[in-house]
Amino acid sequence: MSSRTHYRACNLCEAICGLVIRVEDDEIVDLRGDPDDPLSQGHLCPKAVALQDIHRDPDRLRHPLRRRADGGWERLGWDEALDTVAERLRATQRRYGRDSLAVYLGNPNVHNYGSLLFGPPLLRLLKTKNRFSATSVDQLPHHLAAQQMFGHMLLLPVPDIDRTGFLLVLGANPLASNGSMMTAPGFERRLKELLARGGRLVVVDPRRTETARLADTHLFVRPGTDAFLLMALLQVIFAEQLEDLGTVASYCDSLAEVRAAVAPFAPERVSSITGIAAEEIRRLAHDFVAAPTAACYGRLGVSTQEFGGLCLWLVNLLNAVSGNLDRQGGVLFTRPAVDAVAHFGRGRRGRWKSRVRGLEEFASELPVATLAEEILTEGEGQIRALLTVAGNPVLSTPNGAQLDKALGKLDFMVAIDYYLNETTRHADIILPPTSALERDHYDLVFNLLAVHNVAKYSPPLFEPAPDARHDWQILAQLHRRLDSSPLPARFRHWLSARLGPRGLLSLGLRTGPYGSGWRPFGQGLTLKKVENAVHGLDLGPLQPCLPDRLHTPSKRIELAPAIFLANLARLQSRLEAVAASSSSIDSTALLLVGRRQVRSNNSWMHNYPRLMRGKDRCTLLMHPDDARQRGLHEGQRVSVTSRTGQVEVPLEVSDQMMPGVVSLPHGWGHDRSGARLLVAQQHPGASLNDLTDDQFIDPLSGNAAFSGVPVEVRPGDAATDKMPAIESGGS
Ligand code: SF4
Repeated sequence: MSSRTHYRACNLCEAICGLVIRVEDDEIVDLRGDPDDPLSQGHLCPKAVALQDIHRDPDRLRHPLRRRADGGWERLGWDEALDTVAERLRATQRRYGRDSLAVYLGNPNVHNYGSLLFGPPLLRLLKTKNRFSATSVDQLPHHLAAQQMFGHMLLLPVPDIDRTGFLLVLGANPLASNGSMMTAPGFERRLKELLARGGRLVVVDPRRTETARLADTHLFVRPGTDAFLLMALLQVIFAEQLEDLGTVASYCDSLAEVRAAVAPFAPERVSSITGIAAEEIRRLAHDFVAAPTAACYGRLGVSTQEFGGLCLWLVNLLNAVSGNLDRQGGVLFTRPAVDAVAHFGRGRRGRWKSRVRGLEEFASELPVATLAEEILTEGEGQIRALLTVAGNPVLSTPNGAQLDKALGKLDFMVAIDYYLNETTRHADIILPPTSALERDHYDLVFNLLAVHNVAKYSPPLFEPAPDARHDWQILAQLHRRLDSSPLPARFRHWLSARLGPRGLLSLGLRTGPYGSGWRPFGQGLTLKKVENAVHGLDLGPLQPCLPDRLHTPSKRIELAPAIFLANLARLQSRLEAVAASSSSIDSTALLLVGRRQVRSNNSWMHNYPRLMRGKDRCTLLMHPDDARQRGLHEGQRVSVTSRTGQVEVPLEVSDQMMPGVVSLPHGWGHDRSGARLLVAQQHPGASLNDLTDDQFIDPLSGNAAFSGVPVEVRPGDAATDKMPAIESGGS
């Protein structure tokens, strides 16, 4: 019997936890957190064990498939599959124009450095303006705020969680996520250490989340109103002359404009719209500025809402005017070993608009909320073909049912994906890549967001099958087939493919901020050195780095970019509308929000029996008063209806919800016929995105608005009126 120990970073979510995996005869016999990993220090979550389940999953596709005329699937060889795809994509663009082909990139792309390195050249080659990704259902407002204020969409301030004295969390549940846009594995330990050193944790959220339960203060906030709260916090700070920009003061522009902009938003004016008492808002503002160090962190609940762009600007402003931007214990920028800020574009916007609704591009992508209408609306420029890469937009984008219908109308669809799921079932050809354990890994994205600078290289654990392809190889081989560029460009791509992701990583490390450059025996970082540090290299805590790291042309921070100031009119008019209405807020309406669960990861981790054990988790959470008013009870199936659709789910009555707000987790809804996910289909749940609305977006950033979707809840089908338990036969 052969036995070995393998060290790697888990790449299932943003936390990049270090793992120790013991293997005997090609079987994983033990998997645990690596206590010597400098970032995660032994943490892991239940999803990590699913790495082996994904690898062994009988539903995982291992060969290219082609859909037959009768709806069944047949196996294809790689050359025939890639030739057919290249020919169909080329033919569509020749006949209907370049933009008739759309591309959608799912979230797993950012967890795969091969895809990150070989996807963009293919997209540039295709020259379509119809590019979409999961960014516009997630973090687009973060990028917009960073680009406008700091000059680069990837200059994202990260809370210095391990040294801060006060953490203000808005619309985030890092206990479930282990940080998002803030890679912080073991977040619970980090929070407990914050509290143990006398620090404070304040959570503002319409649900008393797992994170809020640890907080010394939790404030319920009405979904979609965080921008009003943030404006009021700033108003208090300026009105009482508490602003102090600290070290960044000498290179900040437009402070006077900020002061003038926030002046109308006194706590008393925003109290009824936010649901937070004016005195609570004042106390929070005072406590935040009085703390020795403080960090405000806003995530999905503030990013995916109709004022998402404004919210992320205001979060950055609050950190800046309290002196906590670029400060130890406040929010800081990272210094990763391969600096994505140097390698990826700054993020321009507005160079073109979507055909049907006129939504602006950002960083060469259009908001995915418009994808379905671009397929369904006839006329010049209509999308006729689609390439998806590791994406399941039917479950993860707003009004998924409409997109489901639209995908059925395409002339041609190809999916690079190893599951036949709710989206890829519409594909004509599916090209399945290797699993995570069959390829190497280096995190290009989440080291950029980590609360501590680290570098870690993970070799592949298992040999891929002889006829398997990695994602990057599929992308590169499609590129080669489609490329008719002049010889020098084709040679450059050939060279990149020869180097592969590992060779390009080696170059990136050598030329990065810790790199050895081209000196053979230099002191700096090389791939060899990173590779030899099997637990990962500790590159030190985050450090102040401004103004050097700024990418604005002036090398100054723009506190009041014009696009945000112009957008404040929306806040003003909403405030005035509420003030003018007699009852201020419609207390009978229910507002829907999502929620993150530890044993789920977006839409694709419901096929692993050990993650599916226990009670049905796809439940609607509702406050007891709301349930009583509607005559509803715990465990009852309820029908939830929005403008776009209707679903039925079991009800869970809990005072963790703010009255007037209900919550449904996202990523469920595996009951579309034609998908082939056996475990998930036994326990399908319902899709939150059959209720969310493609027309409900943040018009400033184009991000989908998931928080605060109006819904009605009524008794559902009495025949299934009980909370079903999930039986698991999982190993
Ligand atoms: S939190 Fe879980 S899924 Fe995320 S990286 Fe860590 S072990 Fe993997």
